[in-house]
Amino acid sequence: MTLSNKIKSAIRIVPDFPKQGIMFKDIATIFLDPQLIRECDLALSEYWLDKGIHKILAIDSRGFLFSPQMATHLNAGVVMVRKKGKLPPPVIGISYELEYGKATIEVVETMISPGDLVIIHDDLLATGGTAHAAACLATSLGAKVVGFSFLIELAFLNGREKLREISEDIHVVCTFQD
Ligand code: AMP
Repeated sequence: MTLSNKIKSAIRIVPDFPKQGIMFKDIATIFLDPQLIRECDLALSEYWLDKGIHKILAIDSRGFLFSPQMATHLNAGVVMVRKKGKLPPPVIGISYELEYGKATIEVVETMISPGDLVIIHDDLLATGGTAHAAACLATSLGAKVVGFSFLIELAFLNGREKLREISEDIHVVCTFQD
């Protein structure tokens, strides 16, 4: 079985969560299977080997799950991008639209330096609003966004189109076409 199909078999799809009409892809069940954790980690990491990545910007909260493991393969750091109010100062934030509502994310501004080569990592690409906002934060601090990394993409929401204006390098392990 391909890794993509293993992921599709392992996750839970929960209708109408957290809002009516959303088919929530719950990746938590992947973490019951150590072999699958390892395969996902390797697939996520290998793509970025030898690309000189300094930092992985990990998006709150499921983006935190694989980022430290990826960072050890890439010899990179991890910077948490968190929902408003979770991080101690000095922070900068940005507000944006997402698939189900509005949100503000923040980063500790001293964690990113001008010239840093960064990737943005999250569990899932939906509309692209969250990853795009994280990339804007990184860019505003002088970092270069080399690309984006997701375990899962909901291709029918066209999040890629929004991200392409920042980087064409978008790595996804498992795609849902509908
Ligand atoms: P977006 O900004 O629209 O790309 O949404 C991405 C963020 O929302 C990620 O952090 C996901 O964890 C979460 N998300 C959006 N839609 C879903 C979904 N259908 N299932 C699981 N998580 C989702």
